[in-house]
Amino acid sequence: MSRRGGGRGPPQGGGRGRGGGPYAAGPGGNCVCPNCGKSVSHQAGVPCYQRKCPNCGSTMVRQ
Ligand SMILES: [Zn+2]
Repeated sequence: MSRRGGGRGPPQGGGRGRGGGPYAAGPGGNCVCPNCGKSVSHQAGVPCYQRKCPNCGSTMVRQ
């Protein structure tokens, strides 16, 4: 899966899932907007910080 916006941190090969890092909280879960509180279901392979709130356009964070 190619990432847009340049590499942030070292590429991780193979180690997807558990114990990968701060963003590897496992499948499922939600992303939440810190601005308006809107939450959406997290998509695998799409970090919450790369998603925009459908309400206000803020960058979302993992809930
Ligand atoms: Zn929002």
